[in-house]
Amino acid sequence: MVVDSPLSSPLGPPACEKDAKALQFIEEMTRNAESVQQRVLAEILSRNAETEYLTRFQLNGATDRETFKSKLPVITYEDLQPEIHRIANGDRSAILSAQPISEFLTSSGTSAGERKLMPTIKEELDRRQLLYSLLMPVMNLYVAGLDKGKGLYFLFVKSETRTPGGLLARPVLTSYYKSDHFKTRPYDPYNVYTSPNEAILCPDSFQSMYTQMLCGLLDRHQVLRLGAVFASGLLRAIRFLQLNWRQLAHDMETGSLNLKITDPLLRECIVKTLKPNPELAQFVHHECSKDDWEGIIVRIWPNTKYLDVIVTGAMAQYIPTLDYYSGGLPLACTMYASSECYFGLNLNPMCKPSEVSYTIMPNMAYFEFFPHEPNLDSTGFDFTRELPPKLVDLVDVEVGKEYELLITTYAGLCRYRVGDILRVTGFHNSAPQFHFVRRKNVLLSIDSDKTDEAELQTAVENASHLLREHNASVVEYTSHADTKTIPGHYVVYWELLVKDSTNSPDNDTLEQCCLAMEESLNSVYRQGRVADNSIGPLEIRVVKNGTFEELMDYAISRGASINQYKVPRCVNFTPILELLDSRVVSAHFSPALPHWSPERSQ
Ligand code: AMP
Repeated sequence: MVVDSPLSSPLGPPACEKDAKALQFIEEMTRNAESVQQRVLAEILSRNAETEYLTRFQLNGATDRETFKSKLPVITYEDLQPEIHRIANGDRSAILSAQPISEFLTSSGTSAGERKLMPTIKEELDRRQLLYSLLMPVMNLYVAGLDKGKGLYFLFVKSETRTPGGLLARPVLTSYYKSDHFKTRPYDPYNVYTSPNEAILCPDSFQSMYTQMLCGLLDRHQVLRLGAVFASGLLRAIRFLQLNWRQLAHDMETGSLNLKITDPLLRECIVKTLKPNPELAQFVHHECSKDDWEGIIVRIWPNTKYLDVIVTGAMAQYIPTLDYYSGGLPLACTMYASSECYFGLNLNPMCKPSEVSYTIMPNMAYFEFFPHEPNLDSTGFDFTRELPPKLVDLVDVEVGKEYELLITTYAGLCRYRVGDILRVTGFHNSAPQFHFVRRKNVLLSIDSDKTDEAELQTAVENASHLLREHNASVVEYTSHADTKTIPGHYVVYWELLVKDSTNSPDNDTLEQCCLAMEESLNSVYRQGRVADNSIGPLEIRVVKNGTFEELMDYAISRGASINQYKVPRCVNFTPILELLDSRVVSAHFSPALPHWSPERSQ
């Protein structure tokens, strides 16, 4: 219940004094978006005035917007590669940031097949923490009583490495969960997790997931919300339950912990709370042994009020499956963030996924927006200095228009293109709210992997070399991210030209082609396959000769121009998928895991 409070906020009545402060902060930031942005830019430019980067563009200490815009180029990650390399190799001078680079955050976006390395500074953790601290006060406006129970969140750390110069390189969430900000967070009745820190921080993904699931089951009546960062992660947890419920039930029955949980700290922590509970074991057995898992989430966790997972952007493909397992619980997308910078939050988190808009918080970084023209996407804009792009400021974006997001961060990224396309849906005070449209140049995505057209093309080319000994080749191909399976997997449709029908490629060869494609894909994909088990084996579906011509006929019948028709390299439209699937002559799966190691290859 939202308590009757003398405190108030235009967003709604806060649940407690702490929430009132958070909501007030949101109000202040969004009301003064313009002045906050000016202050942020001035702070960044004055602090970093002596850096090599800013000196290069002769800002000469200027901190105003006009000078900044006239002198600094718009850049991509590739433009910063030399600086990033130097920092990674141990150059500690003030290259991008006056404050020392504390570590690299490894983005799921890749460059030359490897995760991008995002430099960060210590104080960025405070900024991230600040954004996190706003999420529950907003949620409490919409869902009452969240202080009366717990959240079952499946949170994981991933492997980390060191750069040649000795800096840590790891994902932003791993960095956050391992920080004191997270580990020693003060008790907050609105933010109690079923998972102990020991389970979240266990680097072994099986042990981590197993114990988080076990704790969630033990506390099943207390669970009020269930979540993971992305929808794919929550579905992976459901799949894990499908595969491991017998052992979990056994542990509950006997009060003894699975011997596969070998991490000493984790084991000690769980053993303390695990007591024989035959009744619960029987319940889990009863529910999980049913063939029908529809609504399993609300059957096991009957007090769940909503699922807290991102289902915007590429994750929207998981909404039907989540609805199936949860019996249609509300899906809350609470925040929009990246390794480069945390951007903002959803002020109406219980809205329908299709209506989610994120309000960018003007204190997080300096934001600029490039009006996006969809047909220029693949060629890219001319961002040369001779042709300065017309970038729009945060408060000046227009409702209904699409923009590409650019950021200037405290850690030293200046006018950096994030690669996300956003559409303005409205304003909260003077801060715009954005619908996440898509990430540029992403063809296929299952989890955090992002495969673009060029990567898929190279993968097909590399794999098709194996067809040579059969005197065969790939004449056309397209792809689809199949999320009907858990985990989802890439499906690549191939139409083959077989010159000698007595020597057509056999199953073995085509399986090896699947593996060769996987070996060619970027390291985020391969990590998903090998370490995270978040992506299933790649599948090649060979289609009948003439299928792609039929595809073209279909497109033309729907109005495509015959001269301009290009084979789509990814298809999601159901009638086209049905057409392709009805022409499949054989299907082949990757027989092994591709290579992957946490070490970077470059
Ligand atoms: P990473 O750098 O690996 O942390 O990935 C950040 C990217 O994930 C963003 O630039 C977006 O493309 C995507 N992303 C993050 N949050 C959301 C969200 N709430 N909805 C849709 N996409 C998101």
